[in-house]
Amino acid sequence: MDRILVTEKIAAEGLEVLSRVARVDVRLDLDRAALLDVIGEYDALVVRSATKVSAELIDAGARLRVIGRAGTGVDNIDVDAATRRGIVVVNAPASNNVAVAELTIGLLISLARRIPQAHASVQAGRWERGTFVGWEVRGKTLGLVGLGRIGSEVAVRARALEMYVIAYDPVVSFDRAEQIGVELVTMDELLQRSDVLSIHVPLVDATRGLFDAARISRMKRGAYLINASRGGIVDEEALLAALDAGQLGGAALDVYSIEPPAPDSPLIHHPRVIAVPHIGASTAEAQTSAGTEMAEGVVAALSGATPRYAVNAPFVAPEAWSVLQPYLTLGRQLGALITQLIHVPVRSYDLEFCGELAEVDTQPLRLAVLQGLLAANSIERVTPVNAPLIARERGVRLTERTNPEAQSYAGLLVVRVQSVDDVHVFSGTVLRGEPHIVQADGYFVDFVPQGALLFTYHRDRPGMIGRVGTLLGAADVNISGMYVGRLAPREQAMMVLTLDEPASEEVLATIRALPDIQAAYSVRL
Ligand code: NAD
Repeated sequence: MDRILVTEKIAAEGLEVLSRVARVDVRLDLDRAALLDVIGEYDALVVRSATKVSAELIDAGARLRVIGRAGTGVDNIDVDAATRRGIVVVNAPASNNVAVAELTIGLLISLARRIPQAHASVQAGRWERGTFVGWEVRGKTLGLVGLGRIGSEVAVRARALEMYVIAYDPVVSFDRAEQIGVELVTMDELLQRSDVLSIHVPLVDATRGLFDAARISRMKRGAYLINASRGGIVDEEALLAALDAGQLGGAALDVYSIEPPAPDSPLIHHPRVIAVPHIGASTAEAQTSAGTEMAEGVVAALSGATPRYAVNAPFVAPEAWSVLQPYLTLGRQLGALITQLIHVPVRSYDLEFCGELAEVDTQPLRLAVLQGLLAANSIERVTPVNAPLIARERGVRLTERTNPEAQSYAGLLVVRVQSVDDVHVFSGTVLRGEPHIVQADGYFVDFVPQGALLFTYHRDRPGMIGRVGTLLGAADVNISGMYVGRLAPREQAMMVLTLDEPASEEVLATIRALPDIQAAYSVRL
């Protein structure tokens, strides 16, 4: 059984998910030396933000396959060192989307109705009903800078408040925006049209000081600004000046360039500013889901599957993930089958993504096929993380193309193996959520790739299936399924047997000795 070391406090629900598949040791007492000492015994390490997962610690963790971070940022993890060793780093980036989006909506309505100011006034013994005349958000235009995970959740909620939502995001597709009822516009249009502008971009070099005096001056006069993303994106001096000059009607802030801001900061005391202490992600639900989301990623990585959120593997947009997810297992199995069935030198593998697969970003699927192709012949552990690196070292050539047609399937993954003298075609699809291989080395078959299998290349003759079955039966190997693909009656054929237990080398030898059998291979998937 795999062993997981947890060095910081995570939600009980997360621990439960982990305990279902592995032995979990929660050790909150380990100092650096002790941690270095024990890490070698573990297959997974789970941390929050206090444990420094350095290259030294990663190297000491000879068995490590996955590092889980219950939360979003991974500043405390040496991701490059992990990637080199093929260790997947999973986090929980979606866990606080709703929490931050709900706070944003709270700030939006607070700006419109000045709820915090009204509350303070009542507490101060005043009753100023005439002062607190607000405005309704319905029918107003909300401009989102960034339509990622949090931006989209804000959009959905704002639409429910009957707001008109526009967004600027250079990466998000028009289709995705349309799906959630958002009009994508340029930054200039966003500044000019928004009654309220809310920022949901990461803090990177390109976004540092994004809302400076020049940008704020291009906003609609009297508009409102909300920042629950990161301090540093809004130039606070410029913001204060714009509020004083009446260029902005108000601002709501959850984040600051320096946290906590100075107690006498004129910005937080400004009468038209609502300030909260970086509480965007602070909900009970967000903390629980940080634990479970991370744990699900760790469990997926330990079982060799592709985790939903891996920091050192490609990010997949939600709409692509729902299509791709069931194909990832198929991709790995197709890769593994090819390596175990093709025993001639290969020039290249040509991937064709057909039907529904032609419409999504297929990079994770390519990595899954590579992982399958390489894993069986590698001493080092191959994961989607280091598969491209290993492939490059071995000079594996892979080409890919898309094709909107998928015969009669919704989606079809085709791998053409170009060997020295021939092309070997393999293809698979997903039916009712289950991978099916529908073509193996050119022969049309249909089986669920799983467990122990036996493949024969033979001449189609009466009695052939019976003879192989008898030999397996005599060796006490139970057959659970049988499929035959043939080019024509009594011509070349392939038999695929799914077995409850693998056939031994001796049994294989007896099968190979049968007349008309050209080759027989045992395959493990
Ligand atoms: P995300 O990566 O899912 O989305 C960010 C989006 O911003 C992406 O779609 C990206 O294409 C877009 N983007 C990047 N640069 C841009 C630019 N210059 N102009 C316009 N769009 C740009 O991130 P997320 O999970 O939605 O997080 C958004 C922000 O919220 C981050 O800054 C994150 O740190 C912050 N956050 C705050 C809290 C809090 O407590 N207040 C909690 C969690 C996250």
